[in-house]
Amino acid sequence: MNHKLLKKFADLAVKVGVNVQKGQILVVNSPVDCSELTRLIVESGYEAGASFVMVRYNDDIVNKTLYTYASMEVLTDVPQYMIEQYKFIVENKAAVISISAPTPGLMKDIDPLKMQAAAKAANEKIGFYRKHMMSNGAQWLVIAAPTLSWATKVFPNEAPDKVVDKLWEAILSASRVTEDNDPVKDWHLHMDKLAKHNKMLNDFNFRTLKFNNACGTDLTIDLVENHIWGGGGETAKTGVYFAPNIPTEETFTMPHSHKVNGKVVATMPLNYQGKLIEEFYLVFKDGKVVDYDAKKEKAALKSLLELDEGSSRLGEVALISYDSPISNTKILFYNTLFDENASCHLALGNAYTMNILKGNDLSEEELLAKGYNKSITHVDFMFGSSDMNIVGIKQDGSEVQIFKDGNFVF
Ligand code: ZN
Ligand code: ZN
Repeated sequence: MNHKLLKKFADLAVKVGVNVQKGQILVVNSPVDCSELTRLIVESGYEAGASFVMVRYNDDIVNKTLYTYASMEVLTDVPQYMIEQYKFIVENKAAVISISAPTPGLMKDIDPLKMQAAAKAANEKIGFYRKHMMSNGAQWLVIAAPTLSWATKVFPNEAPDKVVDKLWEAILSASRVTEDNDPVKDWHLHMDKLAKHNKMLNDFNFRTLKFNNACGTDLTIDLVENHIWGGGGETAKTGVYFAPNIPTEETFTMPHSHKVNGKVVATMPLNYQGKLIEEFYLVFKDGKVVDYDAKKEKAALKSLLELDEGSSRLGEVALISYDSPISNTKILFYNTLFDENASCHLALGNAYTMNILKGNDLSEEELLAKGYNKSITHVDFMFGSSDMNIVGIKQDGSEVQIFKDGNFVF
């Protein structure tokens, strides 16, 4: 890929994404395959004033080999040196950039129980790190870069020596990085627009959202009281404004876990645990899925819905105009960072505490009483379309059109 474009992307990640501050430590989590981009990010980091840029390389294949051969004892142990590394990142309030390039379906033959046990053990020992990041203890960012295996999955009919460049082109255009623009400037404008949507939706303080389109979606979603619309830029506890996802197009909030009714028809396949669930719908009653079907991989959908009590209820509703750079690529990326930003989506499973007033300070019991959904999973699926209409009903019963023919009206 063109060096100049990659450097623009690296600058965007450092200056807008984590907005690294003078003297701050910057951490880069990167697949080994993405070292070209990582080296540029390290350079951009020092140029922007980072005191130290720490690179933590990882490798999907090594990880798969680990899960194939290592004993359960090893898989469920988190060595002290690793815990110390996370402590170092948290205590120094380092900014963290993670490059996401998962190989779709790579782990499909690994016993899910092994992965669950390892995830549980990791959560016990280094959950403090996740909590610190999830509550914006410091600035963080997820971006993507292609690997050969990921690119081959996205473009199966393309010549192998072309796929990586093709995926780069799609990622850069979806991230608003082009030959002749200033991505940093364009991203500030884009974030202002998302902030405007958030503010308007927060000011309307809707009780209910109604979704309708020709493919069969006819759904009403009540929002929790004191819900907050988020998306785009956020302010970390370091006081720094940052953009946790590049690209991002969404404005999202918290549905009431027990007040969703009607039918939603998905408009894009859902990649779940290496299986592609296609042409599916869900019917909700009082927040819970009571009926569903899928043309392909219905069993995978069933296992998602039956995972736990919360996995058959909603934890997120996100609004995205149909006319957006990601949706315009018309590509299924098999990567949430892109696919969830392609169109309006819902998530089955856990809700975000940031989507309710003082959510980070409320106890779990208080949150649940307000309609927060709890689950060990959070799976986004797309239901936006070019003819989607969305109407908001305010607390006094009056109605406001939010989307007309797929796009925001304001
Ligand atoms: Zn979302
Ligand atoms: Zn989501």
